[in-house]
Amino acid sequence: MQTWAPTDVPRVDGKPRPLRLHDTATGQVRPTAPGSTARMYVCGITPYDATHLGHAATYLAFDLVHRIWLDNGHAVHYVQNVTDIDDPLLERAERDKDDWVVLGLRETALFREDMEALRVLPPREFVGAVESIPEIIEVVGKLLSSGAAYRADDPEYPDVYFDHTATGHFGYESNESAESMRALFAERGGDPERTGKRHPLDALLWRMARPGEPSWESELGQGRPGWHIECSAIAYNRLGIPFDVQGGGSDLAFPHHEYSAAHAEALSGQRPFARHYTHAGMVGLNGEKMSKSKGNLVFVSKLRASEVDPMAIRLGLFATHYRADRSWTGQTLEEALRRLARWRTAFALPAGPDGTDTIARLRDHLSDDLDTPRALAAIDGWVAEALERRGTDPQAPAGLAAAVDALLGVAP
Ligand code: ZN
Repeated sequence: MQTWAPTDVPRVDGKPRPLRLHDTATGQVRPTAPGSTARMYVCGITPYDATHLGHAATYLAFDLVHRIWLDNGHAVHYVQNVTDIDDPLLERAERDKDDWVVLGLRETALFREDMEALRVLPPREFVGAVESIPEIIEVVGKLLSSGAAYRADDPEYPDVYFDHTATGHFGYESNESAESMRALFAERGGDPERTGKRHPLDALLWRMARPGEPSWESELGQGRPGWHIECSAIAYNRLGIPFDVQGGGSDLAFPHHEYSAAHAEALSGQRPFARHYTHAGMVGLNGEKMSKSKGNLVFVSKLRASEVDPMAIRLGLFATHYRADRSWTGQTLEEALRRLARWRTAFALPAGPDGTDTIARLRDHLSDDLDTPRALAAIDGWVAEALERRGTDPQAPAGLAAAVDALLGVAP
């Protein structure tokens, strides 16, 4: 798929810091240790609706990972998918009497615009599920032949399921209890009640065609792919395993990331799928969970349409740590706009206090599991000094602006 336009990343003076990042599988903040090319996969959208602040928060968190690796001199092979065929997309198209292909294309186009406006660096490969169907079919075929997958005992619809015990270490990524896996599987797109499966936790790989549903010809039979296998196949075929970081929102830790890891591990006989599984918290509105059922989603495109500077959305979301569940309020936006205005005024001064220490602290905080609240506070400190007492270093404002641009992605 076509991606979106990148923004320039200026060079930052001083010494970069290697990135330490939280890993859900071990529950620890651990160093990332990429080779000359760092490899990251972040789960993309299901394009049935516009990008809301929860999506933005996730992509902005992994944009920081991307930027810190670039600062450390790594090339970054970043892959992101678009789930452009799945139940939620079909359900929405049906509800709105829309064509699912047109709906998917329209929302994906809007997502690109939102990402570009937010200055998220684009992935090297932006891959749709539909365009990956031949590789998904191949992977499912291999899992069937190795015995890691099987046909449901259902003569009418012999769907292909993954035997979740195939790798022998299912559950290591999310560390959820058996009971909680059952509940989350049911809640987040799984089908524990489906008859004909060997175990309620076995996940769908290939769904045989139902009347009225889109489907593709294949040696597996006419049908369409399950959700987790899509990310497995796309990541495995482009990044190889293990790759450095598998990212997404915290609601993907189980089942989505557990299964996408297990599928690829069963396929390759290698583990882990990713060295780090990193998850961003959820974003609520005025203290309530933001969800489509509550109808309180805040869309990036709506904020942009009301002339909110996308850089204030960045700063508003960065004001809280990426792993925390955050609440977006009118005050969050006001504070972000105020902060943005102060920063820009200070960056435009003819001189300022020496910025070397501030840039070092910015790097220290960001490389410590993306500690954006402390990173913003470090910049605030320099800005306050620059605005109150000025300073004599003519290079400092431009140096700080470049650091903020490169590392936080905030346009000066
Ligand atoms: Zn995914």
